[in-house]
Amino acid sequence: MARLGNSTATIQFQDILGQNRPDLSSYEELYKHFHQNPEISTLEENTSTKIESRLRSISPHGELDIRTKIGGHGLIAICKNGSGPTVLLRADMDGMPVSEKTGLSYASSKTQKDDLDGQVKQVMHACGHDFHITSLLAAAETMLAARKVWSGTVIFLFQPAEERGSGARDMVNDGLYDPNRHACPVPDICMAQHVYPELAGSVQTKFGPFFSAADSYRITIYGSGGHGSMPHRCIDPVVVACHVVIRFQTIVSREIPPDETAVITVGSIQSGDTVNVISDEAILQVNIRSVSEKWRKTILDSIKRIVDGECGISRCPKPATIEKLNDYPLTDNDEEATERIEESFVRYFSHCHGTIDKALLASEDFSHLATAVGKPYVYWTFGGIDRETWDMHDKANTLDQISVNHSPFFKPAIQPTLQTGVDALVVAALTYVGTGSHR
Ligand SMILES: [Zn+2]
Ligand SMILES: [Zn+2]
Repeated sequence: MARLGNSTATIQFQDILGQNRPDLSSYEELYKHFHQNPEISTLEENTSTKIESRLRSISPHGELDIRTKIGGHGLIAICKNGSGPTVLLRADMDGMPVSEKTGLSYASSKTQKDDLDGQVKQVMHACGHDFHITSLLAAAETMLAARKVWSGTVIFLFQPAEERGSGARDMVNDGLYDPNRHACPVPDICMAQHVYPELAGSVQTKFGPFFSAADSYRITIYGSGGHGSMPHRCIDPVVVACHVVIRFQTIVSREIPPDETAVITVGSIQSGDTVNVISDEAILQVNIRSVSEKWRKTILDSIKRIVDGECGISRCPKPATIEKLNDYPLTDNDEEATERIEESFVRYFSHCHGTIDKALLASEDFSHLATAVGKPYVYWTFGGIDRETWDMHDKANTLDQISVNHSPFFKPAIQPTLQTGVDALVVAALTYVGTGSHR
C-alpha cells in the first residue's frame, strides 16, 4: 500500500488530486442547486438534507459516519481511516436576506420568512457559502477515493448560522464534542476557507489575525420626556445620545494606538416619534471591530465608561442599559499550522498563492470550533472573480469596484473557483494526515 512519507515535501498533491478528485461537473450542478435555493441563518433545513443525501451517496457502504441536527441544522461526516492526526474541515452553509441582482441564469428567486422579524424576504447566497458547501462535499469524495494514501481521521463539518455569529457556538453547545451526545472526535487542527473577491484560481493565506472580532450592542439611554417647549422640565435623551455618539469617536482616535486597527460604528439611533415631544429614551446600536483581545477589551470598557459618564452628567433618571446583540471572536491563525499549510499551498498553487498583509475587518465564528477544545486553526481565502472581469478592472485600475461578498451583484465564477476550493481543502488536509508517524 502506498503511504505518504513523513515530510509534507514528499506528498505528491498533484498526483493524489489528479487520480482521486471526481469529475466536478456534477458538483457544478450541485453548486447551482445550492445557489438557487439559499436559506437564511438557522433555517438551513433543506440545505442540510441535501448535504446529507450527497454524503450518503458518496459513502454507500457507510465509509462516512454522518451525524445530523447539531446545533440546529449542522451536520458532520467523520472519515476514520486508521491511526494519525484528526483534521476538521468546516464549511458554513447559510444564505442571507439579499435580493439577488446578478442576472445569472441560476440566480436565486427564493423567499423565506425570517424568524428574526417574521418578514418574508428575498434570499441569496450573497456571501458565497454555496461554494464552501460544494467544495467540502467534493473534497470529501476526493479524500474517500484517496483513502489508501493517507491515514488519520478527517471530519467534514457543515455549520449553520454563520451570518448571525451563532452557528459554531450552537454546535459546540449542543454537544458536538460531547462523547455522550454527537461524539465528534476532538480535532488536532481545524480549517476553514472563504471565497473572496480575488482572481479565481488563487488562494490567500495570512499569519496571525485574519478576521477582526466583532461585537454589537444595543444601548438604551433613559431620559425624562415632556413637551418640546419645556426642555428645562425634561432630560432629553436625544442630546445625551448625540454626546455619546460624538464621544465614541474619540475612542479609536485618542485611546487606541495609531498603528492598531479598530472601528466603532453607530449603525442605528432611534428616539421619539414626533416633532414637539421630548422622548423618554434613545436607543443606539453600535458595532465594534478589533483585531487584538487587548484593544477589544479597552474599547468595550471605554464604551461603558462613556455611556455611564454622559448619562451621569446629563442627570439621566437611571443608568443606561447595554445589551449584547451578538459577538464574533477574533480569527487568529495559528503560526505553526499556517506555516505548514502555506508551504503546501506554495508548492501546489505556485504563483496563484498570495499572502494577505492586514487583518480583514470582516468577522467569522469558525474559531469557536477550535478554541472550544483548545486546538489550533487555520483560515484562508480563495478567489472567485473570473479572469475577464479581473483583467478589465485591473487595466482600468478599478479592482476596488468589483462586487464583493454580501453585494446583490456578487457573482463568483463557478470555475476555476470550485476546483480551487476543493484542492485547497484536500491539500490542507493531506498536509496533516499521513502515516500516523508524523506530527
Ligand atoms: Zn457573510
Ligand atoms: Zn461568509
